[in-house]
Amino acid sequence: MTTKPLSLHEPVFAGNEWSYVKECLDTGWVSSAGKFVDRFETDLARVCGTRRAVALVNGTAALDLALRLIGVRAGDEVIVPSLTFLATVNAVAYQGAVPLFADVEEPTFGLDPDALEAFLAAETETRGGACVRRGSGRRVAACVPMHALGRSVRLEPLLDACARRGIPVIEDAAEALGSSYRGRPLGSFGRAGVLSFNGNKIATTGGGGALVTDDEALAARAKHLSTQAKSDADAFWHDAVGYNHRLPNVNAAIGCAQLEQLDGFVARKREIAAAYRDAFAGTALSLFWEPAGSRSNFWLNAVLARDAETAARVLKSLRARGVGARPMWAPAHLQPMYRDAPRAPLPVTERLWRTSVCLPSSASLTDAQVREVAAAAVEAAAG
Ligand SMILES: *Cc1c(COP(=O)(O)O)cnc(C)c1O
Repeated sequence: MTTKPLSLHEPVFAGNEWSYVKECLDTGWVSSAGKFVDRFETDLARVCGTRRAVALVNGTAALDLALRLIGVRAGDEVIVPSLTFLATVNAVAYQGAVPLFADVEEPTFGLDPDALEAFLAAETETRGGACVRRGSGRRVAACVPMHALGRSVRLEPLLDACARRGIPVIEDAAEALGSSYRGRPLGSFGRAGVLSFNGNKIATTGGGGALVTDDEALAARAKHLSTQAKSDADAFWHDAVGYNHRLPNVNAAIGCAQLEQLDGFVARKREIAAAYRDAFAGTALSLFWEPAGSRSNFWLNAVLARDAETAARVLKSLRARGVGARPMWAPAHLQPMYRDAPRAPLPVTERLWRTSVCLPSSASLTDAQVREVAAAAVEAAAG
């Protein structure tokens, strides 16, 4: 159909990337200190509406640090969706904690606040100020909602269910930079939010991530741990087991240029989503749209088919035509490392996984390409 295969997501470097990177090379400030790191953190905090942003080496490291900093410890349980990129769940395991899988809901592909409330009400109790799951006797130490494909979780009831039990929330907003819920940026609702600037995300630093928060002490601690917890850098004294999780200045330079273009990326993504929606209107496939009360960056688009066989046919047919369509993430509770992890019933997770297909969504796509992809998908769905 097209001469060049359409990839799922391609970065766009149309702004000041070259000149900012050149400045790093010309001045020798290529590593983990430099003005672009500081500027990236300031710019990012502004975009996210938080007091602080801490630039980190990737989103996975940011999740790891966030969970450690809010006090998740070995033997705790952490509520996570099973329908997510596995990094969300691995970050729980890094603490020696156990993921507690909860189901998602169709309108958001994210944690279902009503199902979670019912589960917590039936299965947990408060003991000595902590929320404890009766079945395991373990503390439920955190909840990590993930904003799937840039669409917002129904945050109000979710935050409420967690707050009433003293469960801190870390938002996995890795896919949701530029999205908002009730007019407020995603990533700014929990104790901290986590972002990713991997090459496939809406804005990239090559590889990169960040932790955003209103909590100054938490941000300072994140910065400290990410720089090997140096207490006296000149004499090489350290006061904790830290990491080298800093974002290099060269990467931050790319990020500064990308953030300058973020509004444009989001605007184009929204046009692409609208073009998909129009092309799928009245067909057997429906586009994963924007949940009520939220504004999505439409980072990636996905269609839902009526059954698993239809979705598999659509995926196979698009791929045969050189379209870089992809299945949704295989659920975490089916991965070998997490098969024995505790869980609530996960019927929606398994259904959405089997019936959805992710479609090319690069900001560089033309409307004509979107219509071609959609027409091919509709034809495949019809059998
Ligand atoms: C990309 C992503 C991450 C991890 O980010 P990296 O920068 O690749 O480490 C975490 N969670 C979700 C949902 C993601 O999509």
